[in-house]
Amino acid sequence: MQEVLQKEGYILDMDGVIYHGNRILNGVKEFVEWMIANGKKFVFLTNSPERTPHELSMKLERMGLSVSAEHFYTSAMATAEFLNSQAPGCTAYVIGEAALTKAMYDKKIYMNDINPDYVVLGETRTYSFEKLEKAIELVNRGAKLIGANPDTVGVTEKGVMPATGSLIAPIEIATGKKAYFVGKPNPLMLRHALNQIGCHSADIAFIGDRMDTDIIAGIESNVDTVLVLSGVTKKEDIEKFPYRPKYVVGGVGELLQ
Ligand SMILES: [Mg+2]
Repeated sequence: MQEVLQKEGYILDMDGVIYHGNRILNGVKEFVEWMIANGKKFVFLTNSPERTPHELSMKLERMGLSVSAEHFYTSAMATAEFLNSQAPGCTAYVIGEAALTKAMYDKKIYMNDINPDYVVLGETRTYSFEKLEKAIELVNRGAKLIGANPDTVGVTEKGVMPATGSLIAPIEIATGKKAYFVGKPNPLMLRHALNQIGCHSADIAFIGDRMDTDIIAGIESNVDTVLVLSGVTKKEDIEKFPYRPKYVVGGVGELLQ
């Protein structure tokens, strides 16, 4: 574990690693304070495109964690960065929350519902038949279909809600076109996060709670992986996968023990 603590920086998944819903997990406050006190570089990575870094910072503040906005990287930001690198100056028709649209504007990707280069979809509660119909029309006319992440469901207090993968499926089926997904497990997201903190892959550890998104993205980005058992993965699940994390701990708090 000493090897993990000697890293120059850390990339941390959020849900299941630092909190569950609105409850901060044991030892997280101490670990974040330790990172800050020791001058570590760090970024929180989330597949959710629904909140801006500033909104995520405020969410953590409400849980008693003081972390400024530059320490967050979302799938909305990764999507905008991906489109900007593929086709600078491109336009998009976006189905998603304000944070996704804002990430696009930040990269000078403007909205277009007539002849956009891309149709981009992220988690949203404002999904409608009209938007679906528009997206299908635009993809049929040549717009490329992009999903902020491939997650099919998100967990809420009420149970599960359809996530990007489920919302984009009707467009794929109706057009016969397959979407390209930017968020985890696509290692692109992790590499962008590495750039944001200015670290080399050998100098960081990626801490996540899911084998099928976090750990695989870490392995494919050639970074050391730490699986925490405070989220969705149980100890007995690990051997069901053809790959394994480098380290396994009960939760982030155990890293300092
Ligand atoms: Mg998670």
